[in-house]
Amino acid sequence: MGCQMNRLDSELVISRLRAAGHEMTDDRKSADVVLFNTCSVRRHAEQKVYSRLGAEGQRKQHNRRLIVGVLGCMAQREGEQLLRNHPQVNIVCSPGQLARLAELIEHVAGTGGAVLALDPDRRARGGGAEEEADRDEFDALDLSRDPSQSPSVAQAFVRVARGCDKFCSYCIVPFVRGPEVSREPSRIVQEVLRLVEAGRTEVTLLGQTVNSYRWCDGGRTVGFAGLLEQVAAVGGLRRLRFVTSHPLDFGNDVLHAMRDLPNVCPYIHCPAQSGSDAVLRRMNRKYTRAQYDDLVDRARGTVPDVVLAGDFIVGFPGESEEDHAASADLIRRSGYKNSFIFKYSPRPGTAAARMRDDVPTEVKRWRNNDLLAVQAEVGLAHHRSYIGRTVEVLVEGPSPRAAKQPTPAPPGQTQMLGRTRGDHIVVFDGEPNLAGHYVDVRIADASALTLMGSINLDVS
Ligand code: SF4
Repeated sequence: MGCQMNRLDSELVISRLRAAGHEMTDDRKSADVVLFNTCSVRRHAEQKVYSRLGAEGQRKQHNRRLIVGVLGCMAQREGEQLLRNHPQVNIVCSPGQLARLAELIEHVAGTGGAVLALDPDRRARGGGAEEEADRDEFDALDLSRDPSQSPSVAQAFVRVARGCDKFCSYCIVPFVRGPEVSREPSRIVQEVLRLVEAGRTEVTLLGQTVNSYRWCDGGRTVGFAGLLEQVAAVGGLRRLRFVTSHPLDFGNDVLHAMRDLPNVCPYIHCPAQSGSDAVLRRMNRKYTRAQYDDLVDRARGTVPDVVLAGDFIVGFPGESEEDHAASADLIRRSGYKNSFIFKYSPRPGTAAARMRDDVPTEVKRWRNNDLLAVQAEVGLAHHRSYIGRTVEVLVEGPSPRAAKQPTPAPPGQTQMLGRTRGDHIVVFDGEPNLAGHYVDVRIADASALTLMGSINLDVS
């Protein structure tokens, strides 16, 4: 569940468990071990986990040997309480302890008991040797990666940093994922190299605030622009992406790297969260609306064909009609390809949870729908501007909606889905074996979220 960081953690855990002799099954009922990699960012995500834990509790009544594990952010947030309140749970394992999972499963299988593997409070620890040990512990999971195990034939995520030091007032991440720790550039480059050797051609660099990446070693400092330069130099890497960026750390050096390095994709996912200075202040986002507007202008002025995506929270404590209108205005001004829009829900332990959650549920719902409608209008205009153009598409596989296609695909073909360098979703008819290849697609139509076209026959 949750963000791309969790998707990567799940992939790495699966790879490690396979190496330890476990097998994956699609049929949960036949599993001996059920692991939930959880997210604490929204209440809804946690409620989903509790309901699934309830179902596993039922199964456990008939199969005492079943092992149930809760991994990730909820494990760190709730810790021992999870074991106390949910006796069906055997393993509680925080994000920084996932490299130990095979050993924890073995322990529980041998003893029939329960184990708790939580991250230490890294903010309370000193620097020097302790910091070094933290880096190595964090890196253990990534370094053990088997590149042949990544689920996509052409795409892979690579972590560049863990944790976050921004402390946005609504967010639980700095508490559950700990302080920001950047990985050594040479280890990142090595990992990308191994992925490219295993056939991956598109890599997405991941960090909670990826562009605040900073590695200091003696007198040498590598910032995010420098890291992009080092990774982009890996031969055979055709596309390099990164998510998620923080507006405050988006310097011109990163924009210049995006402009000058041909394999860095012109796509920026840069959450604004609100268009109002008053709300941004209460959110502790540390930038103003004018600074965000300036970033959009600098990006458009520097990176040709840059594509922007945003995130918004509606109904934050104290959000007025004027504040809401400012968010709608920001969506229009920024011309986002798409935005992720969420209704605010307080997360225990955060600064915002101590504010009065004073925007009524129905108002939150209305504002959510209103921003979605504004984004749909802006997204449609953005996507329609591609009609008539030919775009390079990395084919991901058959479209999940192929069966609902109004006109059936020609014999031997199906509706395929891929992405442009600007992260647009493109659907077109093609052969299923195109997955992992790059094709040129001429765009004939567009919706608010998708480009539709037909393939040019040259396949590279
Ligand atoms: S930048 Fe803010 S919203 Fe993003 S992970 Fe850090 S604290 Fe959370």
